[in-house]
Amino acid sequence: MIIFLFWILGGLLVAQWYKNWDQGYGKGLFISILFSPVIAAIVLLLSGRKARTCPKCAEKIRMQALVCKHCGNENFEPGPKEKLKDSMENIIG
Ligand SMILES: [Zn+2]
Repeated sequence: MIIFLFWILGGLLVAQWYKNWDQGYGKGLFISILFSPVIAAIVLLLSGRKARTCPKCAEKIRMQALVCKHCGNENFEPGPKEKLKDSMENIIG
């Protein structure tokens, strides 16, 4: 029963991570419940990140975007430190 709870909670966490990376909350939850949260996390890491956060308006934009669709910001090339911080924040939520 405890394992079942961890399974669900882990699934919800991984699903949130999927959402942050623009891979779809439902997809993350589906893979987590069906296989396991660990498998879902590995699948996400392998498929890669598809979204990032605009430093100016904090809206989510596509990873490949050169211009923010929300505020028109063109200046986002975060340094390695910011990149790490950003990805950590995304994992934590
Ligand atoms: Zn923006």
